[in-house]
Amino acid sequence: MPSYTLTLACGCTVYVACHPMTGLAHTRVVDTPATDCRRRRHERGTRLWLWELLPDPAAPAHVSFSQSDMEQGRVTSLC
Ligand SMILES: [Zn+2]
Repeated sequence: MPSYTLTLACGCTVYVACHPMTGLAHTRVVDTPATDCRRRRHERGTRLWLWELLPDPAAPAHVSFSQSDMEQGRVTSLC
């Protein structure tokens, strides 16, 4: 799986780098912070953990993870 970008619920874009051999995502950095994002961590170039990609509990969930995707560190379902 090639590297790809994700748009978070807050509007920030995250670059996800995948290992060329295993296809597993190993690095996630903020690519383009949303102008109205209030999360201090979301600055360009900031490395994020997988759970930091999850939306705020108070916010509507736009990103869903299945169990197998969590184990593989991948997100395949965005809606
Ligand atoms: Zn953000």
